[in-house]
Amino acid sequence: MQETTSTTQIAHFINNARVAGRSGRSQPVFNPATGESTRSVALASTEEVNSAVAAAKAAWPAWSKTPALRRARILDRFKAILWERGRELAEIISAEHGKTVDDAYGEVTRGLEVVEFAVGAPHLLKGEFSEDVGTGVDSHAIRQSLGVCAGITPFNFPAMVPMWMFPIALVTGNSFILKPSERDPSAALILAEWLAEAGLPEGVFNVVNGDKEAVDALLHHPDVKAISFVGSTPIAQYIHQTGTANGKRVQALGGAKNHAIIMPDADLDLATNALMGAAFGSAGERCMAISVAVPVTDAVADALIERLIPKIEALKVGPATDPASEMGPLVTAQHLDKVRGYIDSGAQEGARIVVDGRRFEQKMQGYEDGYFIGGTLIDQVTTDMKIWREEIFGPVLSVVRRGSYQEAVDLIHACPYANGTAVFTRDGDTARAFSHDIEVGMIGINVPIPVPMAFHSFGGWKASLFGEHHMHGMEGVRFFTRIKTTTTRWPRGMREDAQFVMPTLG
Ligand code: NAD
Repeated sequence: MQETTSTTQIAHFINNARVAGRSGRSQPVFNPATGESTRSVALASTEEVNSAVAAAKAAWPAWSKTPALRRARILDRFKAILWERGRELAEIISAEHGKTVDDAYGEVTRGLEVVEFAVGAPHLLKGEFSEDVGTGVDSHAIRQSLGVCAGITPFNFPAMVPMWMFPIALVTGNSFILKPSERDPSAALILAEWLAEAGLPEGVFNVVNGDKEAVDALLHHPDVKAISFVGSTPIAQYIHQTGTANGKRVQALGGAKNHAIIMPDADLDLATNALMGAAFGSAGERCMAISVAVPVTDAVADALIERLIPKIEALKVGPATDPASEMGPLVTAQHLDKVRGYIDSGAQEGARIVVDGRRFEQKMQGYEDGYFIGGTLIDQVTTDMKIWREEIFGPVLSVVRRGSYQEAVDLIHACPYANGTAVFTRDGDTARAFSHDIEVGMIGINVPIPVPMAFHSFGGWKASLFGEHHMHGMEGVRFFTRIKTTTTRWPRGMREDAQFVMPTLG
């Protein structure tokens, strides 16, 4: 990317204040609907990351000893601010990401739900107690915070994904450093300011903007105890390997290629509408987007495609500022080129481009240079094609035809990614077998985007997640805490000789 004449630089946030970048490195931030850049984002040096870690380390002892209820009340005030001003945040997200304002508000709300879960921390952190584990001996187990934790997040949910992490990390007593995506960094700073306004002490939550240098500084810093990452699979794998090699606890969620099976008994109108939202909502830039439809039998494939064509052709593609828009632009010019390249490769490899989004032209005045592309439908996709093997992350729905339920399941199992999947059927046996047997982390039965609620946990399997813990819900509490077990004896009047064998109840 080239440096432009940006007028404002998006800074870092350390000790409850915006801190200007000092590294001399920055990168432009674009409005994807217009293609313009009026701002840039500071890219932190290792020294700048170190100063954020030092602030978080200094804040942790007092924060971790603050009663959980008091921590929860600060989060509760933050939640009230989110309800009050979430729409403002959604507009800021739209201007940097490109998604519609309603869609951006949806992500703010899904993040807010994790805050709602987190304010229950005093209950979630209640320990376990066992009386008389031996004669006059009691045992109790508690969960304690880890220390300084870091979150490294992708561009596609600049508010929700950070909120999968920090509400639970903070309320369980950790301090936190967020390294948001350099493509849409503003939401993170707003969240930081609202946390400070809600009463969060200095240094407990910090934001460093940056690229690989900032990430590597976090991965190698001995005072960072845990790293929560969401992004593409190669980077997730790198984060997991490097972080764990440096002795850190790591959860690293990667990319996805989500398939939806459409059985012959499915309600085809319902499945068509579900696929429209799941494939083209947020321009397909969702890790839970359905990017592959798997109709079982050619008859189902033909009927499905017939229903999809007019709907895809009628998709309203436009800027987030136009309330009529159903789908915004892609995030950057580079990403637009990449998605167009995938459609080219599908055509070259022999797939049938049924609806070609490359033909879309944005004629609305002022938006001609935005990174727009139309919805695309590709039939006759096979597993040797690049468009099936790789994650496209754009508004492109591939159709891979299969002759039976088992062939469709085998296709899903052949895919290295295993984030989400769905089946459309009216048959209980098929639905139950699918949900029990499929090797994927999140399953939808007639539900195209089965994103678990905040009080459940989010995460895929295989190349979609590295590490043991999923995000938020009880898995989030487990990730951001460690167990301590204390055994207690008050031996009134008891005398005992030294024992050299393992104590047992006998
Ligand atoms: P990305 O992997 O390019 O970037 C994610 C983060 O990693 C960013 O903060 C970025 O600055 C950092 N990063 C990028 N390159 C790096 C490098 N070489 N070394 C160290 N850090 C680096 O991902 P993205 O393009 O921002 O987001 C889209 C991807 O995220 C898609 O693959 C999508 O499927 C995935 N995603 C997954 C989930 C999930 O829950 N599994 C959720 C959202 C997005």
